[in-house]
Amino acid sequence: MSETAAGREAVLARIADAAGRAGRTAEEVTLVAVSKTHSPEKIREVFDAGQALFGESRVQEAVVKIPLLPSRARWHFIGHLQKNKIRHALPLFELIHGVDSSALARDIDRIAEEMGLFPRALLQVNVAGEASKFGFSPDVLRGECEDLFQLPRIQFEGLMCIPPPGPEPEVSRKYFAALRNLRDELQGEFGVSLPQLSMGMSGDYEVAIEEGATMVRVGTAIFGEREKTVRSRAD
Ligand SMILES: *Cc1c(COP(=O)(O)O)cnc(C)c1O
Repeated sequence: MSETAAGREAVLARIADAAGRAGRTAEEVTLVAVSKTHSPEKIREVFDAGQALFGESRVQEAVVKIPLLPSRARWHFIGHLQKNKIRHALPLFELIHGVDSSALARDIDRIAEEMGLFPRALLQVNVAGEASKFGFSPDVLRGECEDLFQLPRIQFEGLMCIPPPGPEPEVSRKYFAALRNLRDELQGEFGVSLPQLSMGMSGDYEVAIEEGATMVRVGTAIFGEREKTVRSRAD
């Protein structure tokens, strides 16, 4: 078995254990294998091991890689989507994890209408109030929720967050719980359905599952360390 296939097996086993601890089943948790920066060959290896769903965070990179992989592979966009990339992204990705402002939501909605699409999306929440992070503050989201859910094309299915990185997974727990509580509150207050909670990465996905994650975005634990890439400001 390849190293990536073994990594994936280990992640799936830990997902099942974490789900079990929370009285949930492994089927309630979707593994998004985060393949950003990795080569099509390496992604193909993970695909051949049974992984059909991948996450990419840069449109320019995904546009090149996705056509090189089997059409049965499925893709989620997990990065910050820039306005001028929406048109390229919408046909490639079945779910946009990080809609992080009302302006972006409206742009996606308008372009989806032009393209005849009904994109699925999650709302990104800046749970720790970090100045450097994209995402709605909980208060802004409460205020804008009603308008967001009236957009005719974009379909919001839940919330997503990226807590501050740290060595200790337990530190993330309060942020994951906060995202779940906010979801419960919005569902109650606005009568909307937000079944998906995208939370948890290689360092803390088990804690996220214990707190209700339905999607975990795991890269390093499957693919190994990423090469440090020089990222341009434009992307
Ligand atoms: C890169 C990335 C991940 C995966 O991170 P790992 O620590 O490698 O598992 C998850 N979510 C987002 C939004 C990312 O950008």
